Amino acid sequence: MEIPRWAARVTAAVVVGGALIIRRALQDAASRSDTEGSGPRKQTFWHWRCECGAHSRGGDPFKSDAEYNAQRHQWRKEKGHPMPEVYSTEEEVEW
Ligand SMILES: [Zn+2]
Repeated sequence: MEIPRWAARVTAAVVVGGALIIRRALQDAASRSDTEGSGPRKQTFWHWRCECGAHSRGGDPFKSDAEYNAQRHQWRKEKGHPMPEVYSTEEEVEW
């Protein structure tokens, strides 16, 4: 299967964005290590759900990933299939 050019660009953007987020998370962890414990924290996860009943498996920390997966679901279906809705949830995660 051929990967469209724009998809390659999106993937590159996600990689760059992910690196920035990881660096920021490391900085956050370093700055709060003295004052806070490692209790549960809220994190945003992105999901998608489609009118046909299909939905994402698990959450994604990056909205662009959820949007891409939603787009791929639409591509796999026949022409005219609706674009799934992308939405976010806040979930507690252990650090
Ligand atoms: Zn669908």
